[in-house]
Parts: sequence; C-alpha cells; structure tokens
Amino acid sequence: MAEKLVVQIPEEISVRALAALLKVDATAVIGKLIAGGVMATINQSLDFDTACLVAEEFGNTAEAQSEQTTINKTTDSKDAVTRAPIVTIMGHVDHGKTSLLDFIRKSNITAGESGGITQHISAYQIDFKGEHGARKITFIDTPGHEAFSALREHGATITDIVILVVAADDGVKPQTIEAIEHAKKANVPIIVAINKIDSPGANVERVKQQLSEHDLIPEDWTGKTVMVPISARTGEGVDRLLDMVVLTADMQELKADPNGTPEAIVIEANLDKQVGPVATILVFNGTVRTGQVLVVGKTYGRVKAMEDDLGVKISQAGPAKPARLFGLKDVPKFGERIEVVPSEKVARTMTQSGLKTKSAGGDSERNSIKIVIKADVGGSLAALEESIKKLTYKDASVEIVTSGIGPVNENDVNLAKASAARILAFRVPINKRITELAGKEGVDLNEYWVIYELTEMLEKELKSIATTTFVNVQLGRLRLLAVFSWNKGAGIVGGEVLDGVVKPNVSVEIFREKEQIGTAKAGAMKIGKLEVDQAEKGTQCGISLSDSTTDPAVGDVLNFFETKEEK
Ligand code: GDP
Repeated sequence: MAEKLVVQIPEEISVRALAALLKVDATAVIGKLIAGGVMATINQSLDFDTACLVAEEFGNTAEAQSEQTTINKTTDSKDAVTRAPIVTIMGHVDHGKTSLLDFIRKSNITAGESGGITQHISAYQIDFKGEHGARKITFIDTPGHEAFSALREHGATITDIVILVVAADDGVKPQTIEAIEHAKKANVPIIVAINKIDSPGANVERVKQQLSEHDLIPEDWTGKTVMVPISARTGEGVDRLLDMVVLTADMQELKADPNGTPEAIVIEANLDKQVGPVATILVFNGTVRTGQVLVVGKTYGRVKAMEDDLGVKISQAGPAKPARLFGLKDVPKFGERIEVVPSEKVARTMTQSGLKTKSAGGDSERNSIKIVIKADVGGSLAALEESIKKLTYKDASVEIVTSGIGPVNENDVNLAKASAARILAFRVPINKRITELAGKEGVDLNEYWVIYELTEMLEKELKSIATTTFVNVQLGRLRLLAVFSWNKGAGIVGGEVLDGVVKPNVSVEIFREKEQIGTAKAGAMKIGKLEVDQAEKGTQCGISLSDSTTDPAVGDVLNFFETKEEK
C-alpha cells in the first residue's frame, strides 16, 4: 500500500502538481475528480478544498500550506545537481545542541579558515570528510532556549534532516517530544544523537526505551531510527553521526539546479549600524548573485555584497549555501522568501502594493487593537508575534498591521497613522525625532523590554474594548404578605423568602399566578426594625420598592436577581 503522507496544500494547485505532491499518477487524480463529479485536465488548477478532498481520498492527511514553507527539496530540471543537506539540531534545553553545533563547526574547518569562525551566523556549511568521501553539510543554528514553536517549526520545514539531541543522563523531556512532533509534522527524517555519553549518569538504553515510546525505534531493536551515541564534549561518535547524515541525505536524493529560478529564505536579519540592513539567507535553488534586485517581503534592494559563513566575500550563493547579504532597504523578517526581480522599479511596485493590501486588510468589524511592531531581532519578533496571535478576549483581538526589525522609523509612524494603529517598540530604542513625529500625528508609541509586559498591556486593552455582555444571576424569591404603603410605582412591601437569598439594591421581577406582570428596583431591606443586607429562606422582611412598572398585591412573588458583567 502507498505510504501515508501529510501534505501541505496551497490555495491553488494544478492537477499535475497535486499528483506529484501525492506521489501518484496524474490520471489517478483525474480519476478521483471525475468520481467526485469534477471534470478536470492535467493543467487545470484546483482550489484548496477540492485538492484537500483528493489528497484525503488517497488516504493522506491534508493541511493548509503555511505562507513560506514550501521549499522545493528537489527539482525536475535536467541540470539539477546534488545539493548539500540542510540540517537542524533540535532537542531539550541543555541537552547539548549548541555544544554539538560548535564542535562540528570547529572540527570541520581547515586551519586557514578558522579566523572567520568567531563570527556568529545562523547557518554554516562544513566540508565533511567521512566514509562517503568529502561532502558538504549545511547546519541551521536554531535560536536558543527562547526558540518558540513557530521558529522551531519553521526550522524543521526548511530542513532536510533533524538531528534530535537527547542527553543520555537526562532522557526524553518535554522539548524532545515537541521536536519529534514538529519533525514528524514536517515529514523530516530524524537522526537521534544520544549525547553526553561521557557523563557518569549516562544511560543510552534508557533513552532508546523512552524514544521508542514515541515511535522512534532504534535500528538495533529492528526499528528504523538511526541513533548514534555521542559526546559533544569529547567528540566521540560525532563523525559517525555525520556519516549517518550523509547517508540519510543520499536517500532523499536532494537536488537543485544552480541555474534555475532562485529560491531562498531569510534565516536571520538585523540592522548593522555601519552597513545597514543585513540578511542571512539560505538558498534552496538557483543562485543569488551580487547586482541582482531582490524583493523580500515588504522590502527590496540591489545586492551590494555578500559574504559566506566565514566572513569571506562571495559574489554568488548557490543551493544550500548560507550567505550574509547587504543592500536591502529595510530589515526583512525571519522566514521571508526572497524573489529575484528584473529591476528596482518592479521591486518598488511589488512592495508598495504589498503594503497597501496589508494595511487595508483586517477585520475592522470586530473590536480590534491594531498594532505596528518593531523588534530588535528576528527571533524576538517571531516569539512576540506568536504570543500576540494567541491573545483574544471575547470578540476583541489584536491585529498586526505590520512588523519588522530595527528602530521605529518615519514609515512606521505614517503607516500606523494611516491604519489607526499604535506602535509597539520591542527592545529597540526610540529617538526623539520619532517620538515628536508620533506625538504630532497622534500615534501612540510605546517601548517594551519584556514580552509579558507587552502582552499584559494588550490583554488589559482587549478586556476594555470587548463588547460587554451582562448576565442575570438569580438570587431568591419572596412571596408578598403585605403592601404597607404604595404611591406612583414606589412603596414598602413585606413578605417571606421562599428560596435562595434576597438582597437590597438589586432588580426585581414581579410575578402573579406564575406570569410576569412587571419589574421594579429593590431598595433598603429590614428584618423587624433592623436594616439588613440579606434575608434567607424562611425569613420575613420588609423591603422598599421603586421604579415599579406595576402595582404589587399580596400573593405576588418577587424574583430578585443581580445583573453582572459576563467574564
Ligand atoms: P543546549 O541548551 O542544548 O544548546 O545545550 P548546551 O550545548 O548549551 O549544553 C548544556 C550543557 O551541557 C553545557 O554545560 C555543556 O557543556 C554540557 N554538555 C554538552 N554536551 C556535553 C557532552 O557531550 N558531555 C558532557 N559531559 N557535557 C556536555
């Protein structure tokens, strides 16, 4: 039987492309469509719902393709060549991800290059000489402990292989399980590195046992998952681990065409005081060259210069090659895709219309807080956006009009004004000129240094703008035994509490023969001569009524209730 897949379906897809995605013949797809009453040709495009139905008909799980996730891992081009695998290291905090990344980088670099290694870059490529010959492997340096699921998920999706690090002296932990889930969801093969085998508390068998509870069965237990015991401290087993990476990559037949349409993604971006916006990119297909004009999300620019992960100037970056790129007008966002366009004019038009649709979008009918966010680095921006997306209160929600990296600038203020948004600056300084401009334009501008302070503020605001709904809370009922005085909708009555608790200063419904005949407000209440704030079942009390819509009579039942804001 064909293997079950989790496929990501775009909003529109051709029959041919869907067949390739589902690893079936196009005629089989057409067959399913006809069976469902849809006549289609091989080049016809299908909408999302139809494509999902077809995918599910073949027994697969279909899900919506998130914006930036399809990166072609392979290509049909006849000029395609094998490309280096892209590897992400995942695992629980303190299990040794950073140590392993550092060890691999340091031990696979030639002496002359070691100067550039001090530079931190969020991806690097090594030349590994193992039992399969000299091979290149690209590693993505996942953001540290603050790595939020969005980033991790992203990391997995642009990745060909996940190395799951599990400390032999600590075993499977929550983030280990999370990493397994992310990798599985993205259909990325996992190689397990059982780390810290040099540690006195190491227990490799226990780790295997725990992993097998999560469907990762080691090969030596007749399973399929490669598990390599290693020490990122002493280096033991690391070469074997890399041999396994090469082997797993070979099985995937990863190919790219260096002359094909360039496909690349931003994996880190920041603003450098000297050189302006800097983006670290990873190319998947084609080649990015200096002099080309790129559109990246809402920004664009001509590539002025590039350097590799060792700080060496390069004029082109081909498949799986990480590069730092200079020349963009603004700092792009983590995960944004790069498009090569023919001219700056085209780039400008594309980015301007992009801005318009974004600011015009949003669901203004709902109570929403519109915000423009600026943050210091891609990691914190992604984390912030992730937390903000979760914030809603009743019918109120937060709408991110736009977000970016770097200080708040004039554009942000103008955009915030145009879209009635407020600006939240996260860990970025705000200069005086911008504060003045925002003041002049009537745009709210605030800075935050801690995520929860920002989210707490938004939560409070959401509560204040949400539509308030009220509920009636039933208190108790009183049967009228006397009407002591009554004049124009107000007076004093007396009765006995039938059930519940009766209170002063609340609302009252007046019932006669089980039918409501009016409403009134209850005022002060007395038991005997004593003023009280409640009377329980069985007690007799006197109570003043006002604003009554009817004249009460002995035998009527007063229903006491309180109106409260619904939480
Ligand atoms: P991360 O949070 O997963 O990136 O973990 P780190 O690489 O920062 O490592 C956490 C701690 O474990 C550090 O104190 C490392 O020195 C230590 N460590 C990492 N790998 C090994 C190993 O193979 N053996 C031992 N004994 N300690 C290790």
